[in-house]
Amino acid sequence: MADDPISGQADSPEARRYNRIRRWLGIADFVVGFVFLVVLLATGWSEWLRDLSFRLGLQNYSLSLFMYLVLLLGIGKALSIGLEYYGFRLERRFKLSNQRFGSWIWDETKAFLVGLVMGSVVVELLYFTIRQWPQHWWMLAWVLFMGLFILLAQLAPVVLFPIFYKFEPLENEDLRRRLVVLSEHAGTRVRGVYRWKLSEKSKKANAALTGLGNTRRIILADTLLDNYSPEEIEAVLAHELGHQVHRHILKSILVQAAITFVGFWAANWALHYAIDHHMFDFDQMSDFANLPLLALVSVVLSFLLMPALNAYSRFNERQADRYAFESIASIGPLISSMNKLAEQNLAERMPSKWVEWFFHSHPSISRRLAAAEEWGRTQNMHPHI
Ligand SMILES: [Zn+2]
Repeated sequence: MADDPISGQADSPEARRYNRIRRWLGIADFVVGFVFLVVLLATGWSEWLRDLSFRLGLQNYSLSLFMYLVLLLGIGKALSIGLEYYGFRLERRFKLSNQRFGSWIWDETKAFLVGLVMGSVVVELLYFTIRQWPQHWWMLAWVLFMGLFILLAQLAPVVLFPIFYKFEPLENEDLRRRLVVLSEHAGTRVRGVYRWKLSEKSKKANAALTGLGNTRRIILADTLLDNYSPEEIEAVLAHELGHQVHRHILKSILVQAAITFVGFWAANWALHYAIDHHMFDFDQMSDFANLPLLALVSVVLSFLLMPALNAYSRFNERQADRYAFESIASIGPLISSMNKLAEQNLAERMPSKWVEWFFHSHPSISRRLAAAEEWGRTQNMHPHI
C-alpha cells in the first residue's frame, strides 16, 4: 500500500486537530473502562458489590444479578460521563453540531436505559446457562447470543434507531426512480429508503444500509438529502446498494459469529483458570462477581481484533465503492460527493498510515478518491472535482 496514488488536497490543521482529539477521547474511554474492570477484580470490590446486590435483590439470584448490573453500569457511567460531555462539547466547538445540552442529556439517559435492558437480557441468559450447564454453558450461551444478535440486527431500524432519531419514507420521486433503475441493474430489491432526520443532532452527513430480511433498508441523512445534487445522492445510493449486492451485513454476522465463538471459549477458559488458581474470592462459576472477568475477556479480544475487523470493513467499503463506480453513469458526482462529505464531516483525508490501519473502518478519502479517479481514467471519462 506504500506507493498508492494519493489524491486530493492536504488536511486543514482544524481537521487534524479535531480527529486527533476524537481519537484520544476514544482511547481514554477504553482505558477508563479497562482500568475499572481490573480494579473491580483486583481489589475485591466486585465481591463487595455482589453482596450489596444480594441485599438489594432480596436474596433472589436473578433480581440480585440485575441489581449488580445496575450498580456496575451506573458506576461505569459516572466514570465516563466526563469524557462523553467533552465529546459533546467538541462537536459544538468544531461547529459540527448544534444539539442542546438538554437534548444531549436525554439521549444519554435513553442510551443508558437501552444498554441496561440489553445488558440485563444478556447477563441473565449467561448465568442461566452457567447454572444449568456448568460444563458446556459457553456453547449454548454462544448460540443464544447469536440468536439475540441476529434479532437485534433485524429489529434495530424499527425499534432501536427510532429511540434516538426520526425516520420517514423518502418521498422524492426522482430519487426513487433512480434507485429502482439502480436496483434493477443490480438484480436486487430494496425494501425501502428512509429519510433520517440527523439534522436535529448533527451537521454531519451520513448514509447506511441497515436491517435484515424485511427490515432491510437504506437510510439517508437529511443533511445529505438537502445539500447534495440528485446525481451525488444517486452515487451514495449506489455505494449502499453495493453493500447489499455483496451481502456485507450477512457476512459481518458470520464474522461476528466466529469471533464470539472464540470469545465465549476464552471466557470459559479464563473463568476456570481464575477459579482453579484461586485468583479471586469467587470460587464458583455461577458467582456473578466474576462478571468483570468475562467483560475483560471481551474487551481485550475486541481491542486485539480491532485492526483486523477494520481491515475487513475497509475491504467491504472498497467493494461497495467499486460497485458504485460500475453502476453510475459518470464518476464525477461520486467524486464530488466524497469531497463534500469529507468537508462537511471534517474528516481526515490523509490520516497517517498507522491511524488508518488501527482506527479506520473506511479507507481514507484520499485513497477512495484516487480509486475513483483511476476508474474514471480507465473509462475515459473526465472527472470534475
Ligand atoms: Zn459503505
